[in-house]
Amino acid sequence: MADLQATLDSIYADIQPRIGEGKVADYIPELAKVDPKQFGMAIVTVDGKVYRVGDADTAFSIQSISKVFMLTLALGKVGEGLWKRVGREPSGSAFNSIVQLEHESGIPRNPFINAGAIAVSDVVMAGHAPREAIGELLRFVRYLADDESITIDDKVARSETQTGYRNFALANFMRAYRKLDHPVDHVLGVYFHQCALSMSCEQLARAGLFLAARGSNPTTGHSVVSPKRARRINALMLTCGHYDGSGDFAYHVGLPGKSGVGGGIFAVAPGIASIAVWSPGLNKVGNSQLGAAALEMLAARTGWSVFGD
Ligand code: GLU
Repeated sequence: MADLQATLDSIYADIQPRIGEGKVADYIPELAKVDPKQFGMAIVTVDGKVYRVGDADTAFSIQSISKVFMLTLALGKVGEGLWKRVGREPSGSAFNSIVQLEHESGIPRNPFINAGAIAVSDVVMAGHAPREAIGELLRFVRYLADDESITIDDKVARSETQTGYRNFALANFMRAYRKLDHPVDHVLGVYFHQCALSMSCEQLARAGLFLAARGSNPTTGHSVVSPKRARRINALMLTCGHYDGSGDFAYHVGLPGKSGVGGGIFAVAPGIASIAVWSPGLNKVGNSQLGAAALEMLAARTGWSVFGD
C-alpha cells in the first residue's frame, strides 16, 4: 500500500489554505458556536494501522453519521423486517424534507434522511424506555470503537430539542399516519441524543471499521454484522448517504459515505480502510465542503474508488 501518511499529509497541505470555507450549520444554536477553522482526518486500515492529520483527535458532533450506527442496531433487532418501515431509495431531497413523506403516506424513502432515521429510532426503542435506547446506542458505539470515553453532548441535544421544529413536524406527520409506535417526544428524544454523539475522526474511523472489513472489526476481533449486511449498509451509504448530494459524492469520491451537519463525513473503502474527516463549514446541501474535497483527493491519490482507479 502507498505511504498513507504521506498521502494524508499532502491532502492536508492542499486543504490548509482553504480552511474556514463553507458555512457552519446554524439552525442548531449549539453547532453555530463551533470554530469553522478546523480540519481533521483519520484512516484506519483493515490491518489495524491508524493514520491521522490535523484535528483528528478533536471530538465533534457526529449528527447524521449516527444514523449508520442506529441502522445497524435496528437491523440487528428486526432484520429485513425493517424495510416495512422505511425504503431504500435515494431521496433527491433535502435531509429534512417533508414533501416526499406526504406523497409516500408516511413511509420515509431511506434510513438516512431525517424522517427515515426517526422511524429507525422508533424501531430500536421497542420494549425500551427512551433512556435505555440511547444507552444501548452509546454502549454499541463504544464497543465498536473499543473506546469507553465516547460521550453524548447533552448541550447539543438540548439545543436541537429547542429548535427542532422540522423534525417535530416530520415525526408528527408519521405518527398521524400511524407509522410511529412511540410518542413523538420520546422518539425525538432518542433521535436528538443520537445526533449529539460526540466523537473524533479517529474514534469514528475505528467505530466504522467493521463496514470496511466484511462486518468484523479486525482490531478487536468483534464480529458485528454478517458480510452480507455490511455490504448492504455500504450500498445504502453510497446511494443515500449525502441527501440530495449523494450522486455528486459518488461522482467525485466514489466511496460509500455518510455525512452530518456537524461537518463530519464517514467513508468506507471496502476491504481496505475506514475513513473519517471533519471540517465544520458546509456546502449548499449540508455536507462538509472541505471534508468532501479531502475525500475526493484521497480517492484520486489512492485509487480507492469502488468504481475503479
Ligand atoms: N440532527 C440533525 C437534524 O435532524 C441531523 C442532520 C444532519 O446531520 O444532516 O436536523
